[in-house]
Amino acid sequence: MRIGIGYDSHRFVEGRPLILGGVSIPYGKGLLGHSDGDCLCHAIIDSLLGATGMPNIGQLFPDTEQEWKGSKSTELLKRVVEEITQRGYRILWIDSVIIAEEPRLNPFIPAMKQSLKDTGIPPDIINIKPKTNEGMGFTGRKEGIAVIAICLLRENF
Ligand code: MG
Repeated sequence: MRIGIGYDSHRFVEGRPLILGGVSIPYGKGLLGHSDGDCLCHAIIDSLLGATGMPNIGQLFPDTEQEWKGSKSTELLKRVVEEITQRGYRILWIDSVIIAEEPRLNPFIPAMKQSLKDTGIPPDIINIKPKTNEGMGFTGRKEGIAVIAICLLRENF
């Protein structure tokens, strides 16, 4: 068995859609990033890479490369799930926390799980838990969103 942890945060900016778990959430601001800024996908990716001992997301998909500019993070996550599957790992469980003062994300969790199904992560092996930061820190000041994800993998080799 392997465990991995991933963390990511992105800053809110005007004029971008808010994408989390591949789902577009009405808010009026979005997350700044070389890709679509989907920090839930990014944290999950880093947890999977951490568990397998692979390089982190910034090394795999550098933000200096045009190839990844504007890319859908669900596509990046799908690539990583395929890659670790090829290496003989199976995902047993993913748990995650989205730290956001706004907007309220609970209504969108089922849609996020449904969307992540296309990356190779079935809804029954992932938990996504939104929470506020009680007004403290950068998330509390509504400057951005942070995500922590953890995964458990089984080695089939
Ligand atoms: Mg990121």
